[in-house]
Amino acid sequence: MANSRAKEILLDFVSLFFPRPCLACGDSLVKGEDVICTTCMLEMPQTEYHIDRGNPLQNRLSYRIPIKYAMAIFKFNKSGRVQHLLHEFKYKNHPEIGIVLGRVYAAKLIEINLNNAFDMIIPVPLHPLRKRKRGYNQSAKFAEGLSEKLNIPFSDDLMIRKMSTETQTRKTKLNRWENMSGVFGLNKPQIIQGKRILLVDDVITTGSTVEACAHVLLNEGCPELSIACIAEA
Ligand SMILES: [Zn+2]
Repeated sequence: MANSRAKEILLDFVSLFFPRPCLACGDSLVKGEDVICTTCMLEMPQTEYHIDRGNPLQNRLSYRIPIKYAMAIFKFNKSGRVQHLLHEFKYKNHPEIGIVLGRVYAAKLIEINLNNAFDMIIPVPLHPLRKRKRGYNQSAKFAEGLSEKLNIPFSDDLMIRKMSTETQTRKTKLNRWENMSGVFGLNKPQIIQGKRILLVDDVITTGSTVEACAHVLLNEGCPELSIACIAEA
């Protein structure tokens, strides 16, 4: 259509003078690239966990919770592009990163028919105060991109975070677990009855956050739970 062609020409013109940077490496994006450049997409360390049921994330979470699939797009490495990308995502007001990564990962899941493995996507909730400060829940943005491409509904308000947890880095593993129990709750548990849920988070480090959410979902009637994150640390 003439109108969309005109818009495209205008956008090309604008990007000639104001090139958008890749949010992982900072180089200018070229036409057809969105948010992350092709080089970064190829060079960031992708785990391919979705095609490996015995993957390290699955193994380590399965000790603690019964899960069907555990997946991560990237392996997190400090000082690398993944770290830079996640920093932009969490602290520099770039919600589009989560949406784009959700879409990209959904395409990979569709290739192996995993789009038929879930009935609902639920992001790990952010405490309302933190969400107000950041402007968005980063896990919900990842869920949104996945949902759109997989054609599976996601709900951003079913799970709630009842209290804000202080920074966890200096706590022991036991303290951390105690600290997490009772943090999450569920609105309208009737909605998840019989639903195979894909729980999503941005980064999985110790796993204690997803574990706490998983316990709530499984106790409240979810028959089968899977987990996906953007990066495994
Ligand atoms: Zn790049």
